[in-house]
Amino acid sequence: MRIKMALFLAIAALLPFSLVNAQQAAQKKPLDIYFLDTEGGQATLFVSPSGQSMLVDTGFPGNQGMPPAEANAPGITRDADRIMAVLKLANVNVLDYVVITHFHADHAGNAAELAHRIPIRHFVDHGPYTVEMQAGRDAPILSYLPIRDHAHAITAKPGDRIPVEGLDVQVVSSAGEVIKEPMAGAPGAGAPNPLCRDAKLKEQDATPENFESVGIVVRYGSFRLVDLGDLTWNQEHALACPNNLVGVMTVFHTTRHGDPHSGAPQFVDAIRARVAVMNNGERKGGSPEYWQTVHDAPGLEDFWQIHRSAEGGASHNSPEQFLANINETDHGHYIKMSVRTDGSFTMTNERTGFTKEYSARAPKSAQ
Ligand SMILES: [Zn+2]
Repeated sequence: MRIKMALFLAIAALLPFSLVNAQQAAQKKPLDIYFLDTEGGQATLFVSPSGQSMLVDTGFPGNQGMPPAEANAPGITRDADRIMAVLKLANVNVLDYVVITHFHADHAGNAAELAHRIPIRHFVDHGPYTVEMQAGRDAPILSYLPIRDHAHAITAKPGDRIPVEGLDVQVVSSAGEVIKEPMAGAPGAGAPNPLCRDAKLKEQDATPENFESVGIVVRYGSFRLVDLGDLTWNQEHALACPNNLVGVMTVFHTTRHGDPHSGAPQFVDAIRARVAVMNNGERKGGSPEYWQTVHDAPGLEDFWQIHRSAEGGASHNSPEQFLANINETDHGHYIKMSVRTDGSFTMTNERTGFTKEYSARAPKSAQ
């Protein structure tokens, strides 16, 4: 009896200590973000300190988007393989949320393929309807719809939250609509944007799917990242004019791969991001005009690119250490970002191992 009591006391004494240790360990876990290379598509993986995961887009299906020499090789699932490799590396066995920003092949391409390879708890998209169902462009949605019918699919509306545990993920655009009010509690949100005075609009993009993109803002403490999928210029304008509705950001994940149908300076400049990451391919996105807008944005410290842009040449690409892939023969190197609770973060170029530390800093208010 006395031994049992002694044992009980010993365990009781240890218990609070081990609980505190577990809590400290959880607090020390960073938010990890992997910006994958899908050669001009998108696949961005968020692993919350809680362990929950969110994948934004799924890259190209099969061999689409591959260099001509390899485009006809059978049995290739390049981007699905790349995503699965990073999920394994990140110890993700279940995807809690897969956000399909829109149904173009370079975003929805592996929605169905991934569902066959890994459990997916929820899909998030702009709704099953698409007005863009031409033959030759409808394959991604036709393969995704049967999966969607059997999955827990959430139709995102501007202002909704995607409840990833440990993160604050808010929808700012979906199905052609954007938020109408400033984001609550967001630094700089609601401030008048003087850049709107001379701001230009562009003719609306002919492909409505881009216009319908689900756009999100991910917040973790003082860290904020915006990813608008392939949203178009005029909707970036609507998010930033006459008032900046989204506030200031830590990271700008470039809209539409750095294609000049997006990248409105009145938006890009107003968000005052410290770091930009461009999901371009060697020959997709990464236009010199867009690159220059991002490069010149106030407050920008570094401009990371998934690829060197062929079109950008010598004058419109970042220094090589910020380029994850130099050309299409590079094997899908990713950029990793680890964000700590105090807002400081590390970025790593997986190709070279080059790493850069960014100290915590309160977001600058919009001007
Ligand atoms: Zn795209």
